[in-house]
Amino acid sequence: MTPELERRLPELRSAAQAEPLGLYLHVPFCLDRCTYCSFTTTRDRALQPATTQRLIAEVTTWGTALDRPAVDTIYLGGGTPSLLPAEDLAALTAALRQAFDLGPLVEATLEANPGTVDLAWLSQARDLGWDRISLGVQALDDALLAHLGRIHGSAQALESLDLAERAGFRRRSADLMVGIPGQSLAKVVADARTLAATGLEHLSVYLLDLDKACPLRGEIDAGRLALPSEDEVADVFEALQEALPRLGLQPYEISNYARPGAESIHNTRYWERRPYLGLGPSAASQLGEFRWVESSVIPAWAEGRGEPDVQELDAAEILSEVPLLGLRMHRGLDWGALRQEAGRRNLRPLCDAWEARLRALAREGLVIWEGDHVRLGARGMLMSNGILQMFV
Ligand code: SF4
Repeated sequence: MTPELERRLPELRSAAQAEPLGLYLHVPFCLDRCTYCSFTTTRDRALQPATTQRLIAEVTTWGTALDRPAVDTIYLGGGTPSLLPAEDLAALTAALRQAFDLGPLVEATLEANPGTVDLAWLSQARDLGWDRISLGVQALDDALLAHLGRIHGSAQALESLDLAERAGFRRRSADLMVGIPGQSLAKVVADARTLAATGLEHLSVYLLDLDKACPLRGEIDAGRLALPSEDEVADVFEALQEALPRLGLQPYEISNYARPGAESIHNTRYWERRPYLGLGPSAASQLGEFRWVESSVIPAWAEGRGEPDVQELDAAEILSEVPLLGLRMHRGLDWGALRQEAGRRNLRPLCDAWEARLRALAREGLVIWEGDHVRLGARGMLMSNGILQMFV
C-alpha cells in the first residue's frame, strides 16, 4: 500500500465497513496476445510466480488494513486466471478466506480461456469454492478466431463449457464478440443459439473495440481488413435483442443477457455504484469518495513499485455516475431517489437539466418513464453511447 492510500486509510476503512465489498483480482498472464487486446497482460510467464506472490500478499495487506471487511462477490479476472496452477489458486483462495469475512459471499467468479482448462483444474477450482465461470468464447468460427489471435478453435470453446459443467459449475457465462471483420449477422445469431443450447445461464455480448496500438487496428488501417459499418453492427445487436429472449436469455444490461435470476451479481455492483476493491496490475478500486487504479506496469507492480493513480471524486461526479451507470441496466433507476440525493448535495439544477433532456428523449421513444422510474427503451439501448454522454 502506498503512502497516499495509507493517508486515506481511515476513510477507506469506514467505507469498507459500511456494506459488503466486491473484490476484483487481476491475473495478467496469457499464453499469447490476441490481436485486438489492449488489456494489462503479458506472455512473459517468468513474471508469474512473483506477481502471484504479490497478489496473495496484497490480499492479506488490504484485509488487515480494512479490518477484515465483509465481502459478498469476488471476481478473478485477467489476463487468463486459468493459467494459475491449482496450488496457487488454492493459496490465493486461502488468503482471501483469512483476510476477508466471506460469510456474506454470494458469488465467486473466475474467468477462463478455452484451451487453458482441463477437468482436473476446473474440479479443483470448484472444490475451492469458485462457483461461477466466465469463458472467453468470442465466436464459434475458426477463421474469425484465427483473425482475433485466439489460442482456441470453436470446438475447444464448446468443450471447455462442457468441461466446466462436468466439473460442477452450474453458473456458466460466455463472452461473444460483435463487429469482427468478416463476421456475418447470421453467424453471430447462429453462434448465440449454439451457446444458448449448451444451457449456459449468462451471455455477454461485446462490441469489438480496438485500441490504436493493437495489431488488428494496424491491419484495418492498412486496408487488409475492414470493420463492419455502424448500421451493420446495430443490425446485429437488434437481431440479438430479438433472438436471445426466445432462447431464455433476457437482456438486463446493455451488453449482458441472463436466465432469470442468473445476472452477474459482481458486475451489477459496478452499475449500482457499490464499493469494490481491485488488486493486481491495472486493477481499479472504488471506496467511498476515492477511486484509484493500480500501476499497469506488471514487473513494477510485482515488486511493489508503481504509484496508483488516486482520485477524490466531488459531489457532482458521484451523482452523475448514478444515471451514467444505472441506465445501462434494463430495469433503469429510481429518478425520485436521485432527485432527493441531488437535493441533499445541492445539485438539484444539474438533476433537473438531465431530467428535461430525458423527458425530451421519451418523446422520441428512446426513454421510458413510468412514474418516477426511468429506463432506456430498446432503441435507446442501441443508441446508449450517445444518450449517456449527457452524464459525462
Ligand atoms: S485472452 Fe483476453 S487478456 Fe489475454 S490477450 Fe486475449 S483478450 Fe487479452
